[in-house]
Amino acid sequence: MKPEVVLEAENLTRHYQVNRGMFKDPAVVKALDGVSFRLEKGRTLAVVGESGCGKSTLARLVTLIEQPTSGVLKIDRTDVSRIEEKQRRKLRTQVQIIFQDPYGSLNPRQKIGLALEEPLLVNTGKTKTERQKAARNMLAMVGLRPEHYDRYPHMFSGGQRQRIAVARALMLEPKILVLDEPVSALDVSIQAQVLNLIAEIQDRLKLAYLFISHDLSVVHHIADEVMVMYLGIPVESASRDTIFEKPKHPYTQALLSATPIADPFKEKKRIVLHGELPSPMDPPPGCTFHPRCPQAIDICRHEIPEIRKVGNSIVSCHVATP
Ligand code: SF4
Repeated sequence: MKPEVVLEAENLTRHYQVNRGMFKDPAVVKALDGVSFRLEKGRTLAVVGESGCGKSTLARLVTLIEQPTSGVLKIDRTDVSRIEEKQRRKLRTQVQIIFQDPYGSLNPRQKIGLALEEPLLVNTGKTKTERQKAARNMLAMVGLRPEHYDRYPHMFSGGQRQRIAVARALMLEPKILVLDEPVSALDVSIQAQVLNLIAEIQDRLKLAYLFISHDLSVVHHIADEVMVMYLGIPVESASRDTIFEKPKHPYTQALLSATPIADPFKEKKRIVLHGELPSPMDPPPGCTFHPRCPQAIDICRHEIPEIRKVGNSIVSCHVATP
């Protein structure tokens, strides 16, 4: 059977105009600059990169909080640039987001049961009894107890709050979950529990996950596909195993060299990147990674590398080889 593609981006861009004072022209910040990917039902695409690489902008586009500047974004085969507000509101229920800090998205004065019922109250015609039943079922699905229905957010631990965030995101039966650094604020021991819950729920409901993270060990645990971003551009995309076993792009290689591995026999040389991520308001010419790239050659300083297939990866680099 043909896999069902539920999220598709083609050459997606998001540019912002920034005023630079009275006597200067506004600058254009290219927060996203040509992102393409496909995400199938039941699969996880991890988006990886340093802060400022465009991950969160991508999350805002996919959750329909912002509109793309250009390019195509299809959610459940619907092109979001061609729809009316009513259809947009309906489509918004299909994509839900889970943030790093669940406490920030919960009303401290609202009991958890009511917080879970709220999306049903706003978006569906379900009766009070139906909403309560759905909320109680959802608490059980995410591993919380029936008595938690009447408790307030401050009465839960960090891991339990993230379970509540997962439960709330699932109330409208979405097809896609955007998980924006969902475990990075949790202790390592709790991280594994929440990641296992997220994986179990995907297995059960066949949801598609767009998993945003800077932590490659977490990505290794959860992803099927990986897209590495640098300054708004995807520099390498491949299956998880290809990325972790044979990274082709120098930036991916550097990120992986800084990630702890569990294999004591695997030797790993740390690649230290010098300098900071450049400002997206004034990106370097040529390959934007060249000021920090240990493999840069002359052409990298003035020519933007094409996006091309190298082995089993899609890479944007002049020198990458299979
Ligand atoms: Fe490094 Fe050049 Fe490849 Fe950019 S194009 S990643 S600077 S080698």
